[in-house]
Amino acid sequence: ATMPPLLSAIANAGRHGVLVKSAVVMERLGEVDAVALDKTGTLTEGTPRVTDVRPLAGGGLDERELLTFAAAAERPSEHPLARAVVDAARERGLDLPVTEEFGATPGIGVTATVGGRKVAVGAPARLLAEADDPRSVRAAVVAAELERGGRTAVLVTLDGTPAGLLGVADRVRADAAATVAALTAHTGAAPLLLTGDNPRAAARLAAEVGIDDVRAGLLPEQKVAAVRELEESGRRVMVVGDGVNDAPALATAHAGVAMGRAGSDLALETADAVIVRDELRTVPAVVVLSRKARRLVV
Ligand code: ADP
Ligand code: MG
Repeated sequence: ATMPPLLSAIANAGRHGVLVKSAVVMERLGEVDAVALDKTGTLTEGTPRVTDVRPLAGGGLDERELLTFAAAAERPSEHPLARAVVDAARERGLDLPVTEEFGATPGIGVTATVGGRKVAVGAPARLLAEADDPRSVRAAVVAAELERGGRTAVLVTLDGTPAGLLGVADRVRADAAATVAALTAHTGAAPLLLTGDNPRAAARLAAEVGIDDVRAGLLPEQKVAAVRELEESGRRVMVVGDGVNDAPALATAHAGVAMGRAGSDLALETADAVIVRDELRTVPAVVVLSRKARRLVV
């Protein structure tokens, strides 16, 4: 018997390394006219590394102590930035104390109690609420400096006071620019960048891969709002993401696609399709496969 076109397309997508969860999804993938890509772990490789360790003067910590507190707080987190911080501590042979009362807020960071001190690690823009004390001002200056260099700045506070910053950098995927170019050339879908990361690092990456439409500093529900707004203006949006922070947007989109290798369990479960082989180039490929199959169906 010959297989129905959408089922052959699913088998074909599988050969490209994309797991499409149903025939309905296979159909929807070809309907999209906007593709919203996440930054960390999607356009970048998702294996960031700590490049800078910057204790703040007057914070009472040296580099090793700053990294120790940060890594102990991050240890239970599955966020790529958390893994970078823990790896950096391990590489320096630091002994990590016990982590208590761990909590994570997607798009912001983590909190924990380490050695009796309350530690918060995360986005400076979110954690530096009132910048009127001298150390907060210095922290904001160091963060801006790191971000201008294309780094993600990670702030560490102890008992609510800024103690220092870490700079983290991730490599852009080798096929990111080609994927964006192929989307435009082969599908006509408009690429955009939706990220929780800071606007400076986001703009730099977008320029590098050829995306003009950039929305940065978004919390998970703001990613959802951005997708809703596009869909209300008549677009059909594909979201491509990897994180717990992307799950709500993956669920909202016309088609949600998760990065499989480094993707969080929640993203993989929520998505309609999963990129199993770690290649972003498969995104335009499945759109084309879907359209070919649909032409055979109708
Ligand atoms: P993206 O949309 O680029 O994948 P996220 O929404 O996951 O980024 O995170 C947005 C920002 O929140 C990060 O750039 C970082 O500043 C902060 N953040 C989130 N989780 C963590 C964490 N575990 N450790 C440090 N920073 C974090
Ligand atoms: Mg991500």
